Amino acid sequence: MTDTNDFPPIHLYNTLSRKKEKFEPINKDLVTFYSCGQTVYEDMHVGNAKTFLIWDLLSRVLRYFGYNLKHVQNFTDVGHLTDDNDLGEDKIEKRARMLNEHPMELIDRKINEYYADLDRINFLRPDLAPRATAHITEMIDLILQLIEKGHAYVRNGCVYFDISTFPTYSDFAKLDLKNLKAGARIDVIEDKKNPGDFALWIKAPPEHIMQYTSPWSKGYPGWHLECSTMAIKYLGETIDIHAGGIDHIPVHHTNEIAQSEGATGKKFSNYWLHSEFITQDGVKMSKSKGNFTAIRDLIDELGASPTRFTLLQAHYRTKGDFSMKQAKSSRKRYFRLVRSYHLGVQHLIRKNHQVQHEEFNQSTQILEKFNKSLADDLNTPQAFVQVNTIAKRIDQFRKSENLNQLAFATMLFETMMNVVGLIIPAIDEREIDDVDMMLKLRQNLRSEGKVKEADAVRQFLVNRKYVIQDMDDQTQWYREE
Ligand code: AMP
Ligand code: ZN
Repeated sequence: MTDTNDFPPIHLYNTLSRKKEKFEPINKDLVTFYSCGQTVYEDMHVGNAKTFLIWDLLSRVLRYFGYNLKHVQNFTDVGHLTDDNDLGEDKIEKRARMLNEHPMELIDRKINEYYADLDRINFLRPDLAPRATAHITEMIDLILQLIEKGHAYVRNGCVYFDISTFPTYSDFAKLDLKNLKAGARIDVIEDKKNPGDFALWIKAPPEHIMQYTSPWSKGYPGWHLECSTMAIKYLGETIDIHAGGIDHIPVHHTNEIAQSEGATGKKFSNYWLHSEFITQDGVKMSKSKGNFTAIRDLIDELGASPTRFTLLQAHYRTKGDFSMKQAKSSRKRYFRLVRSYHLGVQHLIRKNHQVQHEEFNQSTQILEKFNKSLADDLNTPQAFVQVNTIAKRIDQFRKSENLNQLAFATMLFETMMNVVGLIIPAIDEREIDDVDMMLKLRQNLRSEGKVKEADAVRQFLVNRKYVIQDMDDQTQWYREE
């Protein structure tokens, strides 16, 4: 860990305690972070992307605050069933059959698309992105340990985790197991000792394509097992942070804890973070229900950076209803920031200004507040208040010709945007000269009464994503790409 004296301590809301807690990593030199990744069978929707983007933000913030980090995020490519009670069918096999495609082809295509989509919004790739199908041997080993320790039992080629052997099973999600037994789960597999037991290994029917040899049957692993296995393999038996969507609390993460802690006898993760749902028309955006907006479509509509900006606007633990109308208004807000920045940079370059060393207290405080907001459980809405404030300062300093402060404020703006992974369209001296020259030409044409020609010059710039704003005494411009 590098020197973090300048940064406030990070606090994270830990689902384990239902409280914000000061973040203290096990090993100060390397924070270990596992986030549950995509089940790769459908287009990534805005909800998935928002959740992955938050883990990208967390990684950026930890590194910005001086921590070294190892971030693992898996791809689920086998065993995620359509039904949480182990009764359903593998989501990937089902989709592949519909598309008349081999599941492995579908998986490879979806992983490529996943990166293609997220790369467009400057996604910070995890250090490792392991796939479940590449860890079948390790998963079988973990099941063997669980059987040996009396936490798992074999029935008809399947292996189940016996939740009655893990007394704290219901703690994490505050589950009411009595009611569960009383009939909440009607469709229960008869082989299970307790209705809440879950599958570690599932015997595959002959027509099932993705099946693997095991001591119990030709089959495939239960979904939850992969995350326990890969987190332990790549990060250790106790990790610092484990994250996922809020839907993971009652089943997936509850089961991951039981498996991991059952096998190792150690606490699995010190901090558990959960991202709230994005809804659409009030209903959880979901691939299986088909009510979703693909992230690709949103990027096509808004552009890359405005999409990233939009997804980071709400706090990650706040439920948000997605609408294209709101997304478009957030796009406008993004370009208002870009406008302030571009006008500020233009002003400095036109004045050929070099930064002088001066007292920059006012603006430094804004950066400190920005840091504090991020340290407060990734409070992005508050962090963006500070970004707005600095943009306003840029406008003020430009108008008041306070060039040193203006230079410093534009630099802080760049820093803040960089921390949250937003790429601001850059402008340089040459571009400013070129556009200024075109606008001068337009002005001359206008004063000569050549309106059509003047409009053509304007259109030339507009086609290149310049926004031209005629003010009373001058014309201003900035670029939307
Ligand atoms: P899946 O591929 O369905 O396992 O989802 C990938 C990730 O996106 C998981 O962490 C989910 O919890 C998360 N997720 C799924 N739906 C939503 C949603 N509507 N809003 C936010 N996150 C979601
Ligand atoms: Zn997981």
